[in-house]
Amino acid sequence: MVERRHDLYLLTPGPLTVAPEVKAQMLQDRSPNAALHSKLTAEIGHYLLEICNGTETHVCVPLQGSATYAIEAGLHTLMPDDGKLLIIQNGFYGLRLRQLAEGIRLPTTTLELPMLPLPTRADVEKALADDPAITHILLCHAETGTGILNPIEEVAAVAREHGRKLFIDAVASFGGFPIDVAALDAEAVFVSPNKCLESVPGIGIVIAKKASLEAAEGRSASVVLDLYAQWRFFEQTGWWRTTPPTHVVAALAKACERHRAEGGVVPRHNRYRHNWRRLVDGLRRRGFRTLLPDDVAAPIIATFHDPDDPNYSFQALYDALEKRNIVIFPGRLTATGTFRIGIIGDLVESDIDLVLHTMDEALAEIGVDMAGPQVGEAASS
Ligand SMILES: *Cc1c(COP(=O)(O)O)cnc(C)c1O
Repeated sequence: MVERRHDLYLLTPGPLTVAPEVKAQMLQDRSPNAALHSKLTAEIGHYLLEICNGTETHVCVPLQGSATYAIEAGLHTLMPDDGKLLIIQNGFYGLRLRQLAEGIRLPTTTLELPMLPLPTRADVEKALADDPAITHILLCHAETGTGILNPIEEVAAVAREHGRKLFIDAVASFGGFPIDVAALDAEAVFVSPNKCLESVPGIGIVIAKKASLEAAEGRSASVVLDLYAQWRFFEQTGWWRTTPPTHVVAALAKACERHRAEGGVVPRHNRYRHNWRRLVDGLRRRGFRTLLPDDVAAPIIATFHDPDDPNYSFQALYDALEKRNIVIFPGRLTATGTFRIGIIGDLVESDIDLVLHTMDEALAEIGVDMAGPQVGEAASS
């Protein structure tokens, strides 16, 4: 019997399975005006800047809400009045970025690309040549809608060479993939506490270039989504402008401590890659096929085609797994006929074995008989 380390396995691409030590931070009353709360907020900022090499050039601004709130605040505050945004869209979250930018009426143009091949330097250069009004580029790093890892370094190089500024939706990747904001010269990077940082939801975070934020006073058309005002208030008082989710902040401070104790970004990435490999190989051996070839996949989530079996439905599989305290995710609109399994969170190898074992039970219960590996698709290394 495989050991069960958690009561519930949330194999969704955030929120996710969180360590008991992180959850325990939320079991006490916490004052937003206590010195401890200011200290925890500051510690989070220092740590997040440290792991993305932003200490000298960038500032870290947390904001109430989910990560999308932080993206909206970042765009409201950092896009100049005469700016124009190019959104690179090759999946569900690219689409959401576009809806967000259009929703707040930013002049926007979208480079719509298929899921594959990955965006290239030539694609981006062509989009810039087609519309010289573009001042900023916005790109999603780990596109959790499909599982693609987009080439941020390459796009950043094009942006730099052509004098354009770059925003990165690193919501799903930050903390689990190396991101060097100074080397990328990123205008802003958007971050979530409840993905690779392995904490709970409730805030969004912007790592913004300090000089750009300093120049953005009074620009945001929103009051609560004004990143400049939020940042200045922290600087001046050590407090959040309006009531923060105090418990969430304490949980994230603990999650940062755990991230550091694990060794930082690279060891965490390696744990994810190991677990992802084990899950993908295990399910391929059973006959499942992945949506993506391994070399373009972000090893934090795996997207599988629905089995070709009349007894299969996502709901049936979901229910059979949920009964066994494992939660998986449906495919996104941009990748229909698929389901997704996230492997970020407090998971180790034995947890993946438990998932595979439980998957066998669930498939047997719903009467789906997997045929084993498909021809020409060896369960690789
Ligand atoms: C999770 C996620 C988001 C943010 O979603 P919220 O619901 O606002 O937390 C944005 N982009 C990507 C790529 C994501 O995976």
